[in-house]
Amino acid sequence: MSRPSKKQQVIANIIKNVHSKTWKCLIDGCEKNAINSHMLQENGILDNVSVDGHLIELKPTDPFSWKKNMPPFEMKRIGKRKAFSLPIFCNNHDSSIFKEVETHPIDLESYQVQLLLSYRVVCAEIRKKLVNIEQFSRILNAETLRGDAGLDSIRISKDGNELGVKDLDRIKKIFEEELQDATSRFTFKVYKYPFLDIYGSAVFSPIENLITNPRQVEPLNDVFIHVIPYSNNTNIIVGYCNEYVNDWIKEYVNSWEGLDETEFEKQLTRLFVGHIENWGLSPDLLQEIKQENLDKLKKYTVLNANNHSPYQKIDFNLFEYDE
Ligand SMILES: [Zn+2]
Repeated sequence: MSRPSKKQQVIANIIKNVHSKTWKCLIDGCEKNAINSHMLQENGILDNVSVDGHLIELKPTDPFSWKKNMPPFEMKRIGKRKAFSLPIFCNNHDSSIFKEVETHPIDLESYQVQLLLSYRVVCAEIRKKLVNIEQFSRILNAETLRGDAGLDSIRISKDGNELGVKDLDRIKKIFEEELQDATSRFTFKVYKYPFLDIYGSAVFSPIENLITNPRQVEPLNDVFIHVIPYSNNTNIIVGYCNEYVNDWIKEYVNSWEGLDETEFEKQLTRLFVGHIENWGLSPDLLQEIKQENLDKLKKYTVLNANNHSPYQKIDFNLFEYDE
């Protein structure tokens, strides 16, 4: 390892400062500071998968030290307390809004529960993007980085994140209206599969032509998906807003039905490798994953960091094991 350059030090400092920044609660008009909110409950869901209080999650690698062959994510061992969490809401809102998904038993078939899980991950995604925007803005404004060749791509990423926040804010409002007064504006399906030591909760937008058209005009269509290790099953909750949906999404929701074990594992691999970052697994399961499949995962993410296509070709099975 060579000594970090001045530029790397400046960027590392910015990232560190942004990560220790205090954020306001994401509920409109709330001025309280956000606490660390879990996207899935710690006691009752995450602890079905943790080993000695630890989980494995994909964490973004420092985006500005991205070398040509460095994957945008690395697998990190992380304490259950800190796992799958972000500063999203204040203590008040975090406990009052999500009571129904924080107590036992959780009824995963309940529309309200499905709305709450999806609403929370939409808010998490907004916060993630706001953190990125803050980082990018500070980098773009840093005196010592002025004129750096890497700044153009930062500017593009910042624009992309700002557009993303706008789209997510629109869907956040629809969730808030629906949580107040449910009128079936969303469709969710639940599928139960044999237990695997994995979890996830995410929103993603399949985009066919992002590269040719980064400033899309139409609002994005979103898929909400939750992979929940609960009551001896891996439960898949997947759905969409009926006002922002297309044929691919409808088919995708149905494609989780009736899979055999191998098909299920491949479908999960496509989800985790191609569509979402918000997922994790147990340290034990990581031990069982074949090195060649971990290499495939890395290689794929290196080449496809900005690929949001619904038609990605991912044909390996991350979870296959030797008999
Ligand atoms: Zn609040």
